[in-house]
Amino acid sequence: MSRIVSRFAPSTTGEAHPGTLLSALLVWLDARARDGRALLRLEDLDTTRVKAAWAAQLVDALAELRMDWDETIVQSGRRAAHEAALDQLERDGRLYPCACSRADRQGGRRAPDGGWAYANTCRERPLPAGGWRAVQTNVRVRLPDERIGLVDEGGTDLSQTPAIDMGDPVVRRRDGVIAYQLAVVVDDADAGITDVVRGRDIAPSTATQIMLQRLLGLPTPRYRHHFLLLEDSGDKLAKLHGSIPFNELRARHDPRELCGILAHGAGLLEAPRPCEPRALVADFTWSKVPTGDRLATLDPARGLVIG
Ligand code: GLU
Repeated sequence: MSRIVSRFAPSTTGEAHPGTLLSALLVWLDARARDGRALLRLEDLDTTRVKAAWAAQLVDALAELRMDWDETIVQSGRRAAHEAALDQLERDGRLYPCACSRADRQGGRRAPDGGWAYANTCRERPLPAGGWRAVQTNVRVRLPDERIGLVDEGGTDLSQTPAIDMGDPVVRRRDGVIAYQLAVVVDDADAGITDVVRGRDIAPSTATQIMLQRLLGLPTPRYRHHFLLLEDSGDKLAKLHGSIPFNELRARHDPRELCGILAHGAGLLEAPRPCEPRALVADFTWSKVPTGDRLATLDPARGLVIG
């Protein structure tokens, strides 16, 4: 069997938080437990939201927690590969300009990710003479109207007809930013990724990504989606985002303590006790990891509590 290559691919659009660190730990353990390579890819394409300081903070936090990566890839350095993929899709007659806004989709059909599906309204619009580079609006890719049958490694059925269920994806945004759906597919393939482990909030995009792989002639890795840490945002539970400031987390717990709390939250320790990720490798198995999302809070007396 060829060696497993996995990646942790955080967007550097906010402070490191326990959800990011938990995801990193699961990716890292899953790769190391199978003697695989683990890459870190800093997803920094969204220039309207990223900050170099957040990327640096995350890299530091992972190092302090003693997760080592075989390679670190900075996604903004991959522009040429992303453009080559767009050129290929253009040659195949797949790209079109789209001026529809979010508001145009509202009230239409619900997509599996909870948003509104795009109804492929602009599909027949031609590219201008200068091709995708000359488009002032979003650029989308026309996906085949075919069904993707997929059950991920955790047993979640992610089957979809992405062209209908989600709608044709944006591959280059109107502000010039290469869109996530294209970049992730190109970068995973170029890095030889065999296994994608990530939060289940991204699961509904998997079928779209597989369809893009097929259009570009790229292999499909294995996929696994893990549970999320949630925060109580008043009237509902949402994906953990801003309620646990990183500096407070760092002030409350040293890295070994934090690792133990995360490992306990992930079902890998019976009680939180200080540890390093390496000590968890031998006993790592997905059967211990909960499937349901869990609430994370910063308790005044105990610090980070996952439960
Ligand atoms: N950058 C994405 C995020 O942080 C994850 C990409 C992926 O794992 O496919 O939500």
